[in-house]
Amino acid sequence: VVDLGMPTRSVLTTCAYCGVGCSFKAELRGDELVRMVPYKDGGANEGHSCVKGRFAFGYATHPDRQLKPMVRERITDEWRETDWDTAISHIAEKFRDIQARHGTHTIGGITSSRCTNEEVYVVQKMVRAAFGNNNVDTCARVCHSPTGYGLKQTFGTSAGTQDFRSVAASDVIVVIGANPTDGHPVFASRMKRRLREGAKLIVIDPRRIDLVRSPHVEAAHHLQLAPGTNVAMVNALSHVVVTEGLADESFVSSRCEGFDDWAEFIARPENSPEAVESITGVPAEQVREAARLYATGGNGAIYYGLGVTEHSQGSTMVMGMANLAMVTGNIGRDGVGVNPLRGQNNVQGSCDMGSFPHELSGYRHVADDAVREVFEKLWERPILAEPGLRIPNMFDAAVDGTFRGLFVQGEDIAQSDPNTQHVQAALSAMELVVVQDLFLNETSKFAHVFLPGTSFLEKDGTFTNAERRINRVRPVMVPQCGKDEWQVACEIAQAMGYDMHYDHPREIMDEIASVTPTFAGVSFAKLDELGSVQWPCNDKAPEGTPIMHAEEFVRGKGKFVLTPFVATRERSTRRYPLVLTTGRILSQYNVGAQTRRTANVAWHPEDVLEIHPHDAEDRGISSGDVVNLSSRVGTTSLRAKISDRMPVGVVYTTFHHPVTGANVVTTENSDWATNCPEYKVTAVQVARETSS
Ligand code: SF4
Repeated sequence: VVDLGMPTRSVLTTCAYCGVGCSFKAELRGDELVRMVPYKDGGANEGHSCVKGRFAFGYATHPDRQLKPMVRERITDEWRETDWDTAISHIAEKFRDIQARHGTHTIGGITSSRCTNEEVYVVQKMVRAAFGNNNVDTCARVCHSPTGYGLKQTFGTSAGTQDFRSVAASDVIVVIGANPTDGHPVFASRMKRRLREGAKLIVIDPRRIDLVRSPHVEAAHHLQLAPGTNVAMVNALSHVVVTEGLADESFVSSRCEGFDDWAEFIARPENSPEAVESITGVPAEQVREAARLYATGGNGAIYYGLGVTEHSQGSTMVMGMANLAMVTGNIGRDGVGVNPLRGQNNVQGSCDMGSFPHELSGYRHVADDAVREVFEKLWERPILAEPGLRIPNMFDAAVDGTFRGLFVQGEDIAQSDPNTQHVQAALSAMELVVVQDLFLNETSKFAHVFLPGTSFLEKDGTFTNAERRINRVRPVMVPQCGKDEWQVACEIAQAMGYDMHYDHPREIMDEIASVTPTFAGVSFAKLDELGSVQWPCNDKAPEGTPIMHAEEFVRGKGKFVLTPFVATRERSTRRYPLVLTTGRILSQYNVGAQTRRTANVAWHPEDVLEIHPHDAEDRGISSGDVVNLSSRVGTTSLRAKISDRMPVGVVYTTFHHPVTGANVVTTENSDWATNCPEYKVTAVQVARETSS
């Protein structure tokens, strides 16, 4: 804890970690940040916080920060520090040269969910207007892209339905593939408060997360399914609702479409709990009881995480949950809904801002002539009607030699993306990789230009949290590297011949509002006045929209979609008989670039592999032993921890430390609709290397 004495002033801002989006007063003494105090009127946190937001800010002034741009010709050369103008001219010259030799489509960019809406918006604009293509993608590709797809198909927009406050009116809370007490602690506290008041809890997860049994909270049902079988499970739950006459017929007939076909599909015997018991491993009667509880227990709310999305059927599962909510009438009022628990502080915003290769801001397809025309008129540049490359497509094209230059905004793709070896091969094959970040990282090992980024304490803009709440991020200190991140993208665009200029990030938000109907009523002035607003915020809802789809769905009628279960092609084999799944712990955050550079690193200094006592005994493994973890794509070593949280045959680890590199073993399998990687199912073997 940094405590330098009594503060003399404070700045109201937003936490830079998870998608809860807690508001904090950053208290300063002179220019020194003394402490972060959770803000009592924060819309998302109401005065609460977790350890990361409150204490893990020391990374912002860590000596590891690289504060000057650096360039090198080859990735084997030493870095050479340079000034901003030289670095930006160099980038523009190299990108233009690549395009002149190989075509405009051979470069692209990746936006960061760590950055503000305004910073993300200018990077996707740089790609579309200055690079002249749609090769822009966001790190949400590897987490919640199936949420974007699935909720848009069924409800009409790519976002959660409720505000966090709504959980206080829930009677049955269903947590699927999420671990809120570690991943979203402040929201988990709100959820637990409601559970202590008597709401019932259903957990659907291969791992016995803390929420299943904690002081004063016990799940009514823990459906401990086999990894990769979510869709079979959600279909079985809906099967019970339909075949036992528990559907909300009035809601279905007045608000939805496609029910008859779906009901015929879901009622088929192969979707019954009895039929899928051998797939999920969960007793049929327990599934029936859970379905009855959700359908008849009052307001039912679904909260889910990456254990839903990071599967080969991630998008199917999102639509399966939407089906379940619609058939029970659990949409459009307090206490119900389908809600993604977003991992990163601004993953909702980075998706909203048009950083998908097929969508402009507000989730509007690039093939829509009327939408493109709005942007073309404002930007004075043509926009391609064909979608660009997704991140995995960029990697594949780089290996093939048809993609040659990449701008990476605050994202350590060489650690966070699956199948590390393939990512490294792709990065090595490119002529120009530009990394903008706080620290040199695994990806910068393959970069030709490194540009310093800014921490949240230096940013001026907005983050959008998991409940669509747009929060202000206010600068606590000046940019340590001498330049705001939004300025960097503008200057690269200008150096490439496209005039992109703003005097302040508020002007960027004004532009976003002018071209994005769901943001039409958003401005810095309104955010300063109201504290925050939840989109859609426009003429119809000038103060924002806490609960969506109240009168009608965004797409008009809610759409039932058929969701047949298809088993992942990742199967256990004699050589790789176990299944690996991954997650996070409270004290660390994603690839750990920030949390590993704060005092809390001592709490969990390494990733460990949780293994069931039976599997450990079979292999002669004790807690603390170093074990070899291998899959068909790679191998790594880490320490074992004997734990019965996982069922026999399933092992679990986190991915916070580059040295253990869990993604060395994860594979190229991905969601059929969005290419979101299947991090949650990898066939592996575990063998003891050395004793503790
Ligand atoms: Fe930050 Fe999330 Fe913790 Fe809130 S719950 S303080 S947003 S990490």
